[in-house]
Amino acid sequence: MQQPIDLPSHSDEIPSELGGLRLTKQRKVVYGVLLDLRDHPTAQDVFLRAKERMPSISLATVYNCLEALVVHKLVKQVNFDRSPSRYCPNLEEHVHFQDEATGEIHDVIFKKGVKLEDLLDLPQGVEVRELELTLKGLMPSSNQ
Ligand SMILES: [Zn+2]
Repeated sequence: MQQPIDLPSHSDEIPSELGGLRLTKQRKVVYGVLLDLRDHPTAQDVFLRAKERMPSISLATVYNCLEALVVHKLVKQVNFDRSPSRYCPNLEEHVHFQDEATGEIHDVIFKKGVKLEDLLDLPQGVEVRELELTLKGLMPSSNQ
């Protein structure tokens, strides 16, 4: 079992090492962008925001940083259809709901006490290691 990591919630709390990953200046900038505005940005979005904090950063560096963060499980890569990957720093078990009207992606957590096994008819004895569930529909505000 992996030790639970005490994750920062804002960029100014980012330590220089997390989950076995050394957080270089660039990685901190990229991770900070993800922590500060949790709207599931694409790599391109992250790049534009990171540039405001570190004008010298390149898109290739941003991709490398995102990759390192994903590999070390500090960030989740979210894929919807064939659109570009998006990135989510919320590591609590959750699913994604995409608003078809706005394209926005919202984190949705399980109701208290409800487990995945309660909802799905899983074969006996399986071990679920990763959850990736995406829902699409309309939020009430856009459903007019
Ligand atoms: Zn998410």
